[in-house]
Amino acid sequence: MKCCAFCPSEAKKLSGEHIWDDWLNRALPTKRFRVRQRFSQLDPFRQYDAVALKEKLSVVCETCNNKWMSDVSNRAKKVLHEMVVAGKRTILFQADLRVVAAFGFMKCVVGDHATRGEDPFFSRAARERFRTSLTIPSEVQMWIAAFQGACRYSGKFTTSLLAPSEPGPLEGIEFYSHTYVIGHLVLQTLAPGWKRVHDRVRPLPTLEPGTDWLPAAIQFLPENGSALEWPPPKYLGDSTIQRFMDRFDRINVSVG
Ligand SMILES: [Zn+2]
Repeated sequence: MKCCAFCPSEAKKLSGEHIWDDWLNRALPTKRFRVRQRFSQLDPFRQYDAVALKEKLSVVCETCNNKWMSDVSNRAKKVLHEMVVAGKRTILFQADLRVVAAFGFMKCVVGDHATRGEDPFFSRAARERFRTSLTIPSEVQMWIAAFQGACRYSGKFTTSLLAPSEPGPLEGIEFYSHTYVIGHLVLQTLAPGWKRVHDRVRPLPTLEPGTDWLPAAIQFLPENGSALEWPPPKYLGDSTIQRFMDRFDRINVSVG
């Protein structure tokens, strides 16, 4: 029996989590939606497009959906609405960034559950801790970027599971990356995890994505205590957004 992504409720009570929250559906008159997914570096991407953004991912229970998740979404709306819809220049303070991080991580876990099935990336303990306290695992990294494409309003999300294909210091580790694009806003999450359960007490490395994307993507998780100004100096456009979503595909890291 499939469980809620965030609590022990069973599938018969599962409702749907909108990938694009209702406030986004109301704010953006036309949308384009794309899901790309793959389960390992060796698999081809599976991809599909849809015009309507009413897709629901039935991975959470009604109680989670209607209570704390709805609360996170409403708080995110206050911070992000004008950025998503109008690309409005905004200073995000630490309290705002916590809301954005919670929103991003919630989408990231939902995306993982919708595409992975039985073996979720984040542990049950980590997901329940998020539900009860909005605590995000300390090894999770998150970036914020800005998108400006030919199509005025768009939405995309990509999840990838990446594993080093050659022996080395990262053997046994996999990385989950999630990119969520809505209107002008881009959130990208990257998390490392041990593949085997008995490794899971070992410390995890973090990926250094290199400097190429620095002008376009601002890292704000783990928290560094400072406010940030959005949008960053460089926008992502139609020709760069895909490369940005795939930027961790070739794992090229320094272990730290
Ligand atoms: Zn639940």
